[in-house]
Amino acid sequence: MACPPFDSSHPEWRDWRWQMRHRIHTAEELSRWIRLTDEERRAIEATRGVFRWNITPYYASLMDPEDPNCPIRRQVVPRLEELAPDLIGVMDPLEEVAHSPVKNLIHNYRDRVAFCVTSECAIYCRYCLRKRMVGDAAFMMRKAELQAAIDYIAAHPEIRDVLLTGGDPLTLSETHLAWILDQLRAIPHVEIIRIGTRMPVKLPYRITPELCRLLERYHPLWINTHFNHPKELTPDAAEAIDRLLRAGIPVGNQTVLLRGINDDVATMKALCEGLVRMRVRPYYLYQAQLIGGTAHFRTPIEKGMAIMRALQGRTTGFAIPKYVLDTPYGKVPLDGSYVRGRAGDYVIVETPRGVLWAEPNPIPPDEDLPFRLPEIPWPEEVDTIDVEQPLYTGAR
Ligand SMILES: *Cc1c(COP(=O)(O)O)cnc(C)c1O
Repeated sequence: MACPPFDSSHPEWRDWRWQMRHRIHTAEELSRWIRLTDEERRAIEATRGVFRWNITPYYASLMDPEDPNCPIRRQVVPRLEELAPDLIGVMDPLEEVAHSPVKNLIHNYRDRVAFCVTSECAIYCRYCLRKRMVGDAAFMMRKAELQAAIDYIAAHPEIRDVLLTGGDPLTLSETHLAWILDQLRAIPHVEIIRIGTRMPVKLPYRITPELCRLLERYHPLWINTHFNHPKELTPDAAEAIDRLLRAGIPVGNQTVLLRGINDDVATMKALCEGLVRMRVRPYYLYQAQLIGGTAHFRTPIEKGMAIMRALQGRTTGFAIPKYVLDTPYGKVPLDGSYVRGRAGDYVIVETPRGVLWAEPNPIPPDEDLPFRLPEIPWPEEVDTIDVEQPLYTGAR
C-alpha cells in the first residue's frame, strides 16, 4: 500500500508551490483521499486524452470520501457522462476565437477585454468554459504574444477595463504578473484591472502576503473568484479573502449553476449568505454554457429563474447575484425583461445589442419544473448557436 494521504498536518501543506507539485492526477493518488467507485475509475481511464484532470491536495481534502455525489467531487473527478453523445455541446459557444483580434485577447464589448494571460490552471473543473484551451501548450502565451495583446490594448483608447483571465492568472509567478501589470498600468486609458481567479477556492495558500503587496501597487484592481458550493467556504478560504480585502481589493464571486451541485434554493442561499459573511459580493450566477461533454451539468433555465425568485426578498439584497446567460452578443440577464419565452427546446432571449438569441435548453423528460415560460413561436429573425463549429471530439 502506498503512503498515507498527505493531510493538513504536512509541514508544507500551506506552501502553494508544494500544493501545485503534489497535485493529484492518477486514480491511485486519488484513492488515498476517497473511496473511488468503479464508475469513477473507469471514467478516469476513459477520459484520458479527452480532458485532463488535476486536483490540489487542499481541494481533495474537502471531498466526502464515501459519497460519489459530493459536490466537490463532482466538480473535479472525471465522470463517464463526459463521453456521452452531446449534440448541442460545442467547443467555443461564445465564439471567443472569432472575437480575438490577437491571440488570447477577447474583445467583445467596446470598452473592455478579456485577456487570457495563461492557459495553465491549478485544477481542471469538469464544466470548464475554456476546455478548448486550458492546459493546452498551444494556448500558452510567449512574451511576444503577451506584448502583442498589450500593444493592441494600448492602440485602442476605448478599452478602459482589462480582465485578466485564463486558465488562472495567479498560476503565474510574481515576476511574470508584475511584468504584465506594469505594462497595463503604463497605458493611460486602462482605468481598471480585474483578475478572474479560482485560487481562493482551490488553492487559498496562493494568496500570500507577498502577492497581496504586489497587487496593491496596481489599484484600482478588482478580483472575481468562483465559489460554487458552501462546502468550499472554509476557514482557509476566508483567510485568503481577508488578505485580498486588506490589500484594498474588492472581491466578487461568479458561480456556475450546476445540476445536482447547487441548483436548489437552499444550497444557493447558503452559498450567497456564506459569501457575504466573508465579505465577498455575489456578482454573477452563470447559466452553464454548451461546452461539449458537459450536458450532465446543465439545468433548464426555468430552474435558475425560480431560484432567483426564491432569493428575492428572502435574503440580504447584495447577497443576490445576477443570473446571466453569456452569448456571442454579450451577457444577457435571465429575467423577465430579457427572456421572451420558450420555443420548444430553445429559450428565446433579447440580447443587450437587440439581436434575439435562441439558446438550446431542452427540458429533460424527468424534470419537474417549478414554473413554465410562455411557449412562443420561433421568431422570424433570431440567431442561435453555430452548429457548424467543430463538436468536441476530444482529439488532442
Ligand atoms: C464577461 C466578459 C467580460 C466582463 O463582463 P462584465 O459584465 O463587465 O463583468 C468582458 N469580456 C468578455 C469577453 C466577457 O465574456
